[in-house]
Amino acid sequence: MLRDKLHFSGLLDPQPVTTFALRTSVRTRAPLNCNPKSSYNGFMTSAAPDSVQSRTPSTAPLVDDFGRQVSYLRISVTDRCDFRCTYCMAENMQFLPRNEVLSFEEISTIASRFIARGVRKLRLTGGEPLVRRDIMDLVRVLGRRVSEGDLDELTLTTNGSQLGRFADELVDAGVKRINVSLDTLDAYKFSEITRRGRLEQVLDGIAAADEAGLAVKINMVAMKHVNDDEIIDMLKWAHGHGYDLTLIEGMPLGEVALDRNDNYLPLKQLKDELAGQFTLERLSHSTGGPARYFSVKETGGRIGFITPMSHNFCESCNRVRLTCTGQLYMCLGQEDRVDLRAALRERGEDGLDEALDLAMILKPKGHDFDVARAAPAVKRHMSVTGG
Ligand code: SAM
Ligand code: SF4
Repeated sequence: MLRDKLHFSGLLDPQPVTTFALRTSVRTRAPLNCNPKSSYNGFMTSAAPDSVQSRTPSTAPLVDDFGRQVSYLRISVTDRCDFRCTYCMAENMQFLPRNEVLSFEEISTIASRFIARGVRKLRLTGGEPLVRRDIMDLVRVLGRRVSEGDLDELTLTTNGSQLGRFADELVDAGVKRINVSLDTLDAYKFSEITRRGRLEQVLDGIAAADEAGLAVKINMVAMKHVNDDEIIDMLKWAHGHGYDLTLIEGMPLGEVALDRNDNYLPLKQLKDELAGQFTLERLSHSTGGPARYFSVKETGGRIGFITPMSHNFCESCNRVRLTCTGQLYMCLGQEDRVDLRAALRERGEDGLDEALDLAMILKPKGHDFDVARAAPAVKRHMSVTGG
């Protein structure tokens, strides 16, 4: 019956029903409050009926069926990007029509519901977040939630190409820390990997971010035959500039030209090799994400490893991901999703609350990546779900 209601309300897509049916059989939480009267939406133009104006928004924490509390929301603000990294996108990507993309007002309303329900950290991502028009308007609005004490942190993941333009504004808006993706320090290889990026522009952007006072973490997707020979150089370069470095295993998300199997580099093996040359000490340090950090005695810096392929960290997963069209994915590597755009547009904040409750029921136990499989684990590219 609950499933019928959810289909009726448009919150549940046909595709993940199997998962939903499976999960509802073991579900222990109380049924969702599907009050058909509660359709007030502060962003809709029609006036709310008097009877529903006094609703009390939910403040219940977002806890899934496995007892994991969601405190971290990643928001993809666009699926577009000025690069086409070989491991992330196909050469000829079809981007979404702009009218399908959430407005800043909608993103901010959705973020507010998450904050009211215990989310303490937001990360803006994409696509490339800094290529969305007027992006700083959104950053400023969300940054205010940090200065007001509602959020611990607002941060973003960027390819760095626009940092020269935006670094100072990001700091003014309350951003303190950013992740910049950089897979090589070789200009030719950089243009090959990104298909259209210029290394110099990104390095200038990183320098501008540093100068503006942003703490920089470099994200490097480690790939056999592509950049595995550069990892030590990258470590020395990053730590030499005072930046943390995080190495990431490539994940099988979306069809790309790259042979993921051939390029897969297990980071466990790499870490053991690094430990032969550097003194690595495990740190308890966490940025709220999945990386495991080590200090490097010789450089004085920190190195993190994100190992979705070789070591599953799902048991401590505290995050969910919102796409630029308002689809909430509860796991990067699974198809289960809840349509927050429909929930918001049709039923306002009540609709959002119900959809978030549903999302907690649907959040999968973990991803199921296997690089040896011919097909990607999920069809959507990382640029859709947001890294
Ligand atoms: N455009 C921004 C950037 O590149 O930083 C933000 C979006 S990008 C999708 C976020 C992160 O995902 C980047 O660090 C990128 O290297 C990583 N990424 C993209 N596709 C990936 C894949 N298939 N496996 C692992 N990491 C991936
Ligand atoms: Fe763009 Fe980031 Fe994907 Fe590269 S990894 S194509 S920069 S979204």
